[in-house]
Amino acid sequence: MNIHHGQDELELFRACTTVALGDGEKTSFWHDKWLQGCSPKSIAPELFQLAWRKNETVAQGMTDGRWKRGLQRLHTTEQINHYVKLWDMLRTVQLSDQQDDIIWRFTANGTYSSTSAYRIQFTGTFADHDWQRLWKSKTENKCKFFSWLILQNKLWTADRIINNGGHTNATCPLCRNAAETSQHMMVQCPYSVQVWRSFSPIGLTTHQPATSQQNGLKEWWTAMIGQHQPQRSSTIDQAVIYIAWNIWKERCRRVFDNKELDVNQLVASIKQDIANWHMTHNICEE
Ligand SMILES: [Zn+2]
Repeated sequence: MNIHHGQDELELFRACTTVALGDGEKTSFWHDKWLQGCSPKSIAPELFQLAWRKNETVAQGMTDGRWKRGLQRLHTTEQINHYVKLWDMLRTVQLSDQQDDIIWRFTANGTYSSTSAYRIQFTGTFADHDWQRLWKSKTENKCKFFSWLILQNKLWTADRIINNGGHTNATCPLCRNAAETSQHMMVQCPYSVQVWRSFSPIGLTTHQPATSQQNGLKEWWTAMIGQHQPQRSSTIDQAVIYIAWNIWKERCRRVFDNKELDVNQLVASIKQDIANWHMTHNICEE
């Protein structure tokens, strides 16, 4: 917020307030508590260190993804975790044409903010899966982020859009024969089953997910990558990620571009992705 005080007062002010975001013109992107009751600086301290413009407003930061400037230098797992967490939280942010407003935290109204801030800062989002293994996989960052999202059940599939009050075609665009959920798209869909089976020659075997909607995909994913000897596992991890990524891309191609690839074409495109990865990375390997 644009308030002319000393640094200590400003910190105290920020500790006592949250921001109800409007147009984002008055709110400090990194310092103010505008994102689900927290400041991006506290959500992602590692990124704050790297960011080029530490004093930009939310309006500036959210224009063309400018908040990411300087973050291409991220390389530790911690930095990547923070990036993914912040990126996911920012995706749902909508600026309005109202002015930003300050909410004093220690009022009846403010209670919710501090509860949600607590929840965001202290729940172990990353403790329930072998995320290290995902971050270390031989795949591009966008595919790692995608895998992280789908394992958290955070992809915007039709069921999730509809549950959040949106309108969309509920039918799976891959088989046009079932309701679209993340689990259906990845595991049960006959189209995807054929794609997965095409990779049995490299040792990939398919599994059925556990029944729980919440953890089913994680368990299924872990079963697929977990059964291999260490020397085989990086190939399998890589294949699983690129197959899942391409199934999602095919789904989006059909929904947004009105184009489609058949199973053989998609399998060829997955193999090409994997070959490209090796072509661009072999130089750096021993
Ligand atoms: Zn389907």
